[in-house]
Amino acid sequence: MDHRLLEIVACPVCKGKLTFDKVNQELICKLDRLAYPIKEGIPVLLEPEAREMSIEEGR
Ligand SMILES: [Zn+2]
Repeated sequence: MDHRLLEIVACPVCKGKLTFDKVNQELICKLDRLAYPIKEGIPVLLEPEAREMSIEEGR
């Protein structure tokens, strides 16, 4: 994924910064513990599409 894209994407819930998870190809909001999927290289920044992460994953 394009690193410049990471600088402009923000969590739609808290408007915070997102972390890119290379392994799972997801964008993670640590604050909300939500993982947004990346479909065909395009981040899907929609709360209903996001996966809720377990407490252990959020570490
Ligand atoms: Zn958030």
